[in-house]
Amino acid sequence: MVDYSLSPSEQELYVRAMEFARKEIVPRAIELDIANEIPIDICQKAYKAGFMNLHIPKEAGGPGKSLFEETLIYEAIGYGDAGTATSINVNNLAFAPLVIGATIEQLQKYVQPLVTGEKVKFGAFCLTERDAGSDASATKTTAVKEGDEWVLNGTKCWSTNAPVADLFTVFAQTEPGSGYKGMAVFMVPKDAGVEIGHIENKIGQKASQQSEVFLKNVYVPEDCLVGEVGKGFHIAMMTLDKTRTGIASIATGVCQRAVDEATKFALKRVQFGKPIFNNQGISFMLADMAARAQNARLSTRYAAWLADHGEKSSFDSAIAKLVASDWAMQNTTDAIQIFGGYGYAVEYGIGTMFRGAKLLQIYEGTNQVQRIVIANELKKKVKTLDTGFKLNYAGVDAPDHTS
Ligand SMILES: Cc1cc2nc3c(=O)[nH]c(=O)nc-3n(C[C@H](O)[C@H](O)[C@H](O)COP(=O)(O)OP(=O)(O)OC[C@H]3O[C@@H](n4cnc5c(N)ncnc54)[C@H](O)[C@@H]3O)c2cc1C
Repeated sequence: MVDYSLSPSEQELYVRAMEFARKEIVPRAIELDIANEIPIDICQKAYKAGFMNLHIPKEAGGPGKSLFEETLIYEAIGYGDAGTATSINVNNLAFAPLVIGATIEQLQKYVQPLVTGEKVKFGAFCLTERDAGSDASATKTTAVKEGDEWVLNGTKCWSTNAPVADLFTVFAQTEPGSGYKGMAVFMVPKDAGVEIGHIENKIGQKASQQSEVFLKNVYVPEDCLVGEVGKGFHIAMMTLDKTRTGIASIATGVCQRAVDEATKFALKRVQFGKPIFNNQGISFMLADMAARAQNARLSTRYAAWLADHGEKSSFDSAIAKLVASDWAMQNTTDAIQIFGGYGYAVEYGIGTMFRGAKLLQIYEGTNQVQRIVIANELKKKVKTLDTGFKLNYAGVDAPDHTS
């Protein structure tokens, strides 16, 4: 029988993460949005609470959590603030290619020291370049083998947490001109000579930072290569398949917070002698928002569950990321409408959520890219599907209308 309930340990994790978000993040979300800094103190507490580095296996000092458990934690952290969630979540993204492609010995040598110390440490995921955004295969950063070392050259951009990172997961081209076929992925310690450039000035999610990353003749030992040369693009795609449910979870949290804040407000705000909630035009909006939050949650948990059970989850994780982030945008837009003028005021915090939600539709694959993934998978699924219906096009299998 299908069981949609959480196990006692999952329920405990969800409640603990929600309490963390309500206590540590919600009261500071507006201040963090204004400060434009990574809230290292909150990250430190999240690290100590076991909410970071989730997928590092226990043999390498990590918590070894499943993607399903991640959905519970990051829905809660996203409920608190999407920007803070991005800062806390990005280690999962930075380390995912290493969990997928590195050996346990490599993880123990390069990642374990970052996930077992007293102080929180950060990784950065460096795929995007100025001319390689949605088209990651256009990567120009190069990696050339010199003796028993690799030498990297190039500039990455939009790297979340790069300004505070100790380890950079860098996608580079080993055979310029060969597109995705020559890509490889490397672990690059900061002290190998990585330089940080301009920090982006964003319109939202200001509790996270993104910057350029300069690699100028950066030498790393042979064992910094993750997996094989030529497998970098594949590892990047496998990574994004896995990490999309993390973004979908943050989006679910944003969806739910918008419902909760807008419902509370609508019940309190009196106009024309009654709470605005009592107008069907408002309560129906809230009902639609609640339906979106619920479906974002179900879609996200389902995609994570599939991946945890070893099923191919590209289709479902892309759907989860697409709908949850589109609905986070819709719910925060509607929340502003329900708050009226107060929704437009900084102090009420709905604007923080609204601007934060927008990024969820852009990073880790824009929602257009999610649609490309879904459409490609759809094409494969339908090719082998016999619906029983005879299609009347191109003269093939046309129904017989003569009788
Ligand atoms: C705040 C923030 C944090 C980020 N963090 C990281 C990070 O940690 N590491 C990292 O490597 N990158 C990161 N990124 C980069 C992010 O993943 C890219 O911005 C994203 O993949 C889109 O690339 P682009 O911005 O170059 O847009 P482009 O690829 O230039 O796209 C521009 C527009 O065209 C659309 N488009 C492009 N190609 C197609 C197509 N074939 N069909 C239909 N539409 C298309 C896109 O959907 C988009 O709407 C971050 C970005 C931001 C803004």
